[in-house]
Formats: sequence, C-alpha cells, structure tokens
Amino acid sequence: MRDPKRKTEKIVAALEERFGVPKWPGPSDPLDALIQTMLSQNTNDTNSGRAYEQLRQRFPTWEEANAADVQKIADAIRVGGLANLKAERIKGVLAWLERTHGALDLDFIRDRKPDEAIRILGSLKGVGIKTISVVLMFACGAEIFPVDTHIHRITRRLGLAPENVSAEKVHEGMQDLVPKGKAYSFHMNLLKFGRTICHARNPRCDQCPLTEECVYNSDS
Ligand code: SF4
Repeated sequence: MRDPKRKTEKIVAALEERFGVPKWPGPSDPLDALIQTMLSQNTNDTNSGRAYEQLRQRFPTWEEANAADVQKIADAIRVGGLANLKAERIKGVLAWLERTHGALDLDFIRDRKPDEAIRILGSLKGVGIKTISVVLMFACGAEIFPVDTHIHRITRRLGLAPENVSAEKVHEGMQDLVPKGKAYSFHMNLLKFGRTICHARNPRCDQCPLTEECVYNSDS
C-alpha cells in the first residue's frame, strides 16, 4: 500500500467533499452512552433504541436500576435481544461504579487520557474496545476512532487494513492513520458512505467517490 496516512487523508477529504464535515454535537452523559452502546451489541439501531427507551421508562434513574433485580432489567430490555446477558452486564457496570466511585456517575472518565480510560472501562465485563471508543468519542469528544462492523468492512475494502483481520486489530491500526481532529468526521462520514454507497451487499460502485482507493474485488 502506498503511504497509508496519505491515503487516509485523501479518503477523509473525499468523503467530506461528498457528505460535508459533521460537527461533534458536544458532550453527553458517558454512563448513559455506555449503557446505550452495550444495548446496541448484536442488534439493530431500532431495537437497541427501543430497549434503551424502555429501560429508562422503567428505571428513570440508574440508582433505581441498580437497586432492581437483574430479571426486572432483563424484562425492560427484552426487545434488544440477549436480554439476560446484557442485564447482568449493565448491573455489573452499575455495581462497579457504586463500589469503586461511590456514585453512579462516569463523568470522571472525561478527565482520563484515552489509554487510561480504555484500561479502566476495558476491565468491565461486556465492554470491548468498540463500545469504549464509541463512548469516548461521542460522549466525551475524545480523539479516538471507533471501528464498528460497517467501518470494519469499508476500511478493508479501501485497503486501509488487511482483509483477514478482526475489528479489534483494525481499531489498533486505524488510530495512527486518522488525521488529527478528524476522528468524528471520518467515523460519521464512513457510516453514511456505508449506508448510502458501500453497502455490505451490492455496493453502488458506480456512484463511489473512492474507486481509485478501493481494493475490493467483488468476485472474491
Ligand atoms: S468502489 Fe465499491 S466496494 Fe469499493 S469503496 Fe467504493 S462502493 Fe465500496
């Protein structure tokens, strides 16, 4: 591959030209974001959104959820799938916060360097690097680039990562490639690109602004 940093810069610029420059909307509550992201695992946005909404209706505060039986949490988030597992993990996060910080408040994570925040949150069950980077980027505005299934697919098609590597490995490799200050814009624009052009099946290559960068072979 030619200089991968240069190539990434070119892709970022081409996507900004096509889709604009998305602006980070500002901070939000990192604990809300963490639980929302945990609920989004292995399901679609509609169902995870409903599961989060129902959880908040049933338990308007995290203190109420923390005091509830895990089964009650599972009942509230049933629509999102894997309800028992996710309920246990959510309870685990709440109990950990109470035990280690004395309050159901994750705001302290904003003051930690990304590596330190990854180490802290990565010790929690069911919280992997994708979830952590989503929380740090969206809720805290950290300069970290989350790699979800769509971005995993597209970065490999664009030759920014080898074909047979996990999303975790792609995450590692991409952090150095994304130009400074562009993590949010690149993430959002790649998602838009994946939704509108570079679909998982039958990508619309005739409309693609990145054909020169693409290494995808539709016959393979
Ligand atoms: S040329 Fe096709 S497969 Fe390659 S990045 Fe563009 S849309 Fe995706």
